[in-house]
Amino acid sequence: MPPEAETTESPGLLPVVPFLKIPDEADPYIEGSRCKACSAVFLGERNTCSSCGARDQMEATQLSNQGELYVFSIVFRSFPGIEVPYVSAIVDLEGGGTLKGNLINIEPDPEKIQMGMPVEVIYKKAPRKDAEGNEYLTYYFQPKS
Ligand SMILES: [Zn+2]
Repeated sequence: MPPEAETTESPGLLPVVPFLKIPDEADPYIEGSRCKACSAVFLGERNTCSSCGARDQMEATQLSNQGELYVFSIVFRSFPGIEVPYVSAIVDLEGGGTLKGNLINIEPDPEKIQMGMPVEVIYKKAPRKDAEGNEYLTYYFQPKS
């Protein structure tokens, strides 16, 4: 086991969303659907292509961990227990698919964040457990290094 696997190698973690896949022998990834008729790519599972309308032509595909920032907002008020401010972002992934998540490892300052800036998807253990004590793997965006 290479040492760099340590950050994501946490057995027993559950995916925080259904489209986050955690293979036994590989790195976690975001799953999408690709239309066999028109090649459009969407986040998550679906049966009908909303680009060309084809039915039952969707196949599961691994989405890229690279993308660019489409839009963001800096959140100053949230639920109790959620640390603010944080940056909520929507990212267009390379090769298709659009993903919403939090942008981290950057100052929550509109001067420092640019639309279209390259970002990457990273996977981390979620900071909180659920009521049953289950731990989750979640994803974030960070500026591409
Ligand atoms: Zn299609």
